Amino acid sequence: MSATELLALGAADLAARVAGGRATAADVARDVAMLRERDRLGRDGLNAVVHHDDAAVAADAAAVDALVRDGTAGPLAGVPVAVKDNIATLAMPTTCGSRILEGYVSPYEATAVARLRAAGALIVAKTNMDEFAMGSSTEFSAYGPARNPVDPGRVPGGSSGGSAAAVAAGLVPIALGSETGGSVRQPAAFCGGVGVKPTYGRVSRYGLVAFASSLDAVAVFGRTVDDAALGTEVISGRDPHDATSADVPVPRFRDAADGALAGLVVGVPREFFPDSLDPRLRALCDRALDAMRDAGATVREVSLPHTAYAIPTYYIIAPAEASSNLARFDGVRYGLRLEGDGLRDMYEQTRSRGFGAEVTRRVLLGTYVLSAGYYDAYYRKALDVRACIAADYRRVFADGVDVLFTPTTPSPAFPFGAKSDPYEMYLSDIFTVTANLAGIPAMSQPIGRLDGLPVGGQFLAAHFDESTMFRAAFGLERALGPEAHR
Ligand code: GLN
Repeated sequence: MSATELLALGAADLAARVAGGRATAADVARDVAMLRERDRLGRDGLNAVVHHDDAAVAADAAAVDALVRDGTAGPLAGVPVAVKDNIATLAMPTTCGSRILEGYVSPYEATAVARLRAAGALIVAKTNMDEFAMGSSTEFSAYGPARNPVDPGRVPGGSSGGSAAAVAAGLVPIALGSETGGSVRQPAAFCGGVGVKPTYGRVSRYGLVAFASSLDAVAVFGRTVDDAALGTEVISGRDPHDATSADVPVPRFRDAADGALAGLVVGVPREFFPDSLDPRLRALCDRALDAMRDAGATVREVSLPHTAYAIPTYYIIAPAEASSNLARFDGVRYGLRLEGDGLRDMYEQTRSRGFGAEVTRRVLLGTYVLSAGYYDAYYRKALDVRACIAADYRRVFADGVDVLFTPTTPSPAFPFGAKSDPYEMYLSDIFTVTANLAGIPAMSQPIGRLDGLPVGGQFLAAHFDESTMFRAAFGLERALGPEAHR
C-alpha cells in the first residue's frame, strides 16, 4: 500500500487496519513524514504545519504498536491527528501563532490531546493559525500565512486554517482546532472538509489557550462526517480540570449514521438567506435542502430575529474577554521578554512587539468596552443581546425544529489580502458566531463548489444534541454523494 493510500483511509478504517495487524502505527508515522515533505505542508509550501517532531511520533507509534500486540488498541489506533498551535501538547511547542510565545513548550497537555492519545492517536503536527485565534484567514500568524490546498492563491480560512489545510491536503483524517466564533466551521468550508463545534461544555477546554472563555471550544475537523464524529466522541466528556465541562453522558456520535433524514424537521432561518446572498450559493443550499426533502425530511422556514446583532455583540464580548485573558502575556510568565527601562517599560516593549496588529486591536477594544463608563453602554448591553440570541434558538428548537440549516459562510475562500479592512474580515463570521454566543453545537460540511471552490452548509442543533446534528449531517452527506464536491 502506498503512503497516500494508507493516509487516504477514514479514521475508523485506518484504526481497524492497525488494530487488525494489516498496517502498523510505525507505517503511519513514516507515511505522514513522507507526505508532509513531499507535498510541502511546512513553511516552504502550504505553511499548514508549524511544528513537528518525527522522533517523538516514532516513539509514540512504537507504543501504540505494542498495545496492538497486547490486544488493547484504542478506537484511534495509529490514526494521525494534527493539533492547532493554541492547544497544549507536551511534545512540540505551543505558540498560538504568536511571537510572544516563541519557543514556549507547555509543561502539561490539553485534555482533548490526552484523550486522543489514550485512544491510540498519533499527534503528528502543530498547525498554523491566526495569532491567538483572532482572524478568519490564517494570514496573520507569526509564521506567515497558510495556503488553501484547493487553490494555494487563496486563504484556507481561519483561524484554524492550518488544521483545515492539513486535513484537505490528506496528511490526517482528523485535526483539532478551536472555535470562538467559527474558526473551525469557516476554514472547513473553505477547504472542503467537515468542521464540528461541540456544545459549550461538551469538551474540556483544559489546555486550550484562552481567547474568550465563555465562547471558546475545542473543535474537530474531519475529512468526512464519520471522521469528525469519531474525533468528537473521543474528546468529549466531563473533565475535573475544567469546571465548565458538563457532566452529561456522551452518546456514540458515530451511531447517528444509522439514523435517517426521514422524520427530521429542518429549520431554515430566513435571516441567514438575505437578499444580498450570492444567488449561486443560495442555489447550492437549495440543492442540499431538496436532497434532504427527497430523503424524507420536513423543511420549515423559521426566524431568528436577533441575528442582525450577532457581529457587533460578538466583537464586544470576545475582545472584552480576550483583553483580560491576554493580560498574562506580560514578559514575566511566558515566552518573550524585551528588556525596558523599568518594569512598566518592559511590559510595554514586550506586549507591543510580541503581539501583532489584530491582537493589539482586540486588547484595546476589549479594555475600552470594559472600562468604567463604557461597561454599561457596551459590555452589559452586549450580554443582554447575547441572551436574546440564545433565546431565539431555544424557541425554535422548543417549537419542534430538530436542526437548522444555513450556509456556513457568505462566500468561498478569498484571495490573500482581499479583506484588508478588519470589519470586512469580521463579516466572514456572520453565519457562525451565533452558535458560539448561544453555546449550541454546530457543524459545516461540503455541499458543492462555486467556481471550483468548496462551499459549506451548516447544521445547528439544541444544546448537547450533537447526535441529532450528526444524524442530519450523515444523512445529507449520503443524499448528496459526490455532488457535495461538485
Ligand atoms: N474569526 C473570529 C474572530 O476573529 C472567530 C475566531 C475564532 O473562532 N477563534 O474572532
